[in-house]
Amino acid sequence: MSEVRKTDEEWRRELTPEQYRVLREKGTEAPFTGEYDHVFEPGVYRCAGCGTQLFDSDTKYDSGCGWPAFSAPASDETLEEETDASHGMSRREVLCASCGGHLGHLFPDGPAPTGQRYCINSAALRLEER
Ligand code: FE
Repeated sequence: MSEVRKTDEEWRRELTPEQYRVLREKGTEAPFTGEYDHVFEPGVYRCAGCGTQLFDSDTKYDSGCGWPAFSAPASDETLEEETDASHGMSRREVLCASCGGHLGHLFPDGPAPTGQRYCINSAALRLEER
């Protein structure tokens, strides 16, 4: 996995303000507002920061939570997880392993067989349709 390292100035220049807020400042887009919340076209979801393939549309489902939800990552190595204790909760934060960008959170209430819900900000993703 290649590491993508950029200065804050470079990220600010290359990302939209919303992408920067989510990916680099661990922001969360408002629920039900994201570009991909209700998109189910077949394709590959790449990191909006570095282009790494993060998820496949095959694992995307409508969780009703207001953000794109996936039941599994594209591969075991694409994501990193950390404990996020902000906002009085203990959550699993999900980051892009290549560029360190914040993607969203992981919850143990997803569909079988994984039982996992990767709750991901649309602003952190770029869909490449097939
Ligand atoms: Fe990335």
